[in-house]
Amino acid sequence: MSSYICDMKPIESISVFDMLKIGVGPSSSHTLGPWRAGLQFIKLLNTKRALAKTTHIKVELYGSLSLTGRGHATDTAIMMGLLGTDPVTFPVEQIQTEIDTIGQQKSLLLNGIHPLAFDPSTDIIFHREFLTFHPNGLRFTALLANGSDLSQTYYSIGGGFVVTSERKRGKRKIEALGHFPYPIAKGTELLAYCQETGLPISGVVMANELSLRSAQDIKDGINEIWRVMLDSMYTGCHTSGTLPGGLNVTRRAYETHKNLIGSKPYNDPVSWIQSIRQTEVKFRQILKWVTCFALAVNEVNASLGRVVTAPTNGSAGVIPAVMMYYMVIENHDANLEDVHRFMLVASEIGSLFKKGSTISAALGGCQAEIGVSSAMAAGALTELMGGTPEQVLMAAEIAMEHHLGLTCDPIGGLVQIPCIERNAMGAIKAINACEMALDGDPKSAKVPFDKVIATMWETAQDMTTKYKETSEGGLAIQVNMSDC
Ligand code: SF4
Repeated sequence: MSSYICDMKPIESISVFDMLKIGVGPSSSHTLGPWRAGLQFIKLLNTKRALAKTTHIKVELYGSLSLTGRGHATDTAIMMGLLGTDPVTFPVEQIQTEIDTIGQQKSLLLNGIHPLAFDPSTDIIFHREFLTFHPNGLRFTALLANGSDLSQTYYSIGGGFVVTSERKRGKRKIEALGHFPYPIAKGTELLAYCQETGLPISGVVMANELSLRSAQDIKDGINEIWRVMLDSMYTGCHTSGTLPGGLNVTRRAYETHKNLIGSKPYNDPVSWIQSIRQTEVKFRQILKWVTCFALAVNEVNASLGRVVTAPTNGSAGVIPAVMMYYMVIENHDANLEDVHRFMLVASEIGSLFKKGSTISAALGGCQAEIGVSSAMAAGALTELMGGTPEQVLMAAEIAMEHHLGLTCDPIGGLVQIPCIERNAMGAIKAINACEMALDGDPKSAKVPFDKVIATMWETAQDMTTKYKETSEGGLAIQVNMSDC
């Protein structure tokens, strides 16, 4: 595995809106990434003036994308991409209708305009073998009217990020973001900037972000991210029934929420926050509320709903649950400014893991998803709770330290078991890590933040492939679909 992608890790500069993206469940690497790859291929066809001349398209999936692709709706995502639809705005309730239509008519409208024969059962090919650059590879090939073809391979490298084998996008990005006032590759550099400027971590990240877009655009963008996070918690808490996919997993946030909220009145997500603040919360209720928020998001994710990739879809529940914990339990005066600071810090911590290790479960197992999201949330909460920048990174380190080696073994290739519960565990660990860091002295910490990132990467390389989003090990083989 060591030849995979690790040589492209350094110097990448990443925006908050790269780390936190609005998308569609159930997986950032297996759904959002392939969807975006489909859109990129359409763009390529347009650039080469080949779209109208395309007579046939074939899509080949490799490695982890192939092994867990059906459970992760990779085929659905590819078709939605080829239709030219936007994963941020396309109504999620219409996705199945689009896919059914393609299956019945055995054709699709490429980019919504060009009719093309397309049979999902034969034109999407699942290969068991892995491509060498990254375990999540997919190749699009378009046959053109003049008999020639156009082909492009993409790699879905986690968190919805997509690169080509030529790494053109990666190079462009580095050039474009070379003017970040505070380029950061390591935690020590981030702390040095905080010391030099007197800014908290959120301030340094904001300064970098301001080199890309206006303060208003940043605020509006984060507000929209929070709106989707809040909506996904609200939807999950108010939807009962069974999740799709065949495991017959019961949606649990609904019952837990019903018991917790009691008869407190509300009629939308904002008044809901006020009502939750009025409920009695002792330790058990706090555990249940945080669990409920995390389960809710990941039940929405598992049913192909709209969530925010943070840093992945499988781990999308951790950050909203911890932000909501701060809002409804810890600080009843919390407002959107707190949300902005929280998301800025969380995204920077996530980007440090992406640069120094990975946020792809196909490369690093679940430590790369739930572990990273827990570290992001722990650090962000610590800043809101008044921790120093050193304590912020200490909290992130503690959260990751206790996720090291966590395997990815989703039953049936679905992002349901163990994924949904695991978000609750990641959120609770984040809160615990925050409290330990707030009571701790970073000067006497034995494990520096950057060392835990390096350890995570080393652990990822030592982990066997069957525990990296292949559903060929662990729970995925111990528990049969018929047991569920
Ligand atoms: S086990 Fe973890 S990494 Fe694997 S799909 Fe589930 S949430 Fe993602």
